[in-house]
Amino acid sequence: MFIEPAYKSQRSGWIEVICGSMFSGKTEELIRRLKRARIANQKVEIFKPSKDTRYDERKLVSHDENALLSKPVVHSKEVLLVHSDTEVIGIDEAQFFDSQLVDACQELAIQGKRIIVAGLDMDFRGMPFGPMPSLMAVAEYITKVHAICPHCGNLATHSYRLSDEAETIVLGEKDKYEPRCRLCFSMGTILSFKKPV
Ligand code: ZN
Repeated sequence: MFIEPAYKSQRSGWIEVICGSMFSGKTEELIRRLKRARIANQKVEIFKPSKDTRYDERKLVSHDENALLSKPVVHSKEVLLVHSDTEVIGIDEAQFFDSQLVDACQELAIQGKRIIVAGLDMDFRGMPFGPMPSLMAVAEYITKVHAICPHCGNLATHSYRLSDEAETIVLGEKDKYEPRCRLCFSMGTILSFKKPV
């Protein structure tokens, strides 16, 4: 489990990345870290892309409905408008943000803030997703979480799309995606017994 470094002993802030496939618990881990910071009376602000409309407009909600209030933003520049007192910044679904999120996170970290970014590391094709690889390159701490492959029980690292849509961003849950291990992901539709009819 991720253990935070001693906050007050550092002059600058830092960037943490929580990445993994769908259904791997990324948002749950983000919420766990943010709730603990709140309990410690640290001022927390949370952002998510306005593109992600699967759940409540303002709440940061994981699949298990553990919720915190978040601000939906259109462009990563809006993240820079945080209150100067804010100590901890949470960003969910970071893969949907533009590439300038990387610079925004670095600037906020230099200002002394702790940035916790959660997002999909790979898209449904298994390719690096949006600003996530660059965020992982500049982050001090990276936590990769995994789901479990429903076909073989191994660790699932990939998000397999069950529908035929070809766009990179297609919002959906268990109706459109399932977690898969590397091998089952590579087998594609041969394993499509769960495909909805
Ligand atoms: Zn598998």
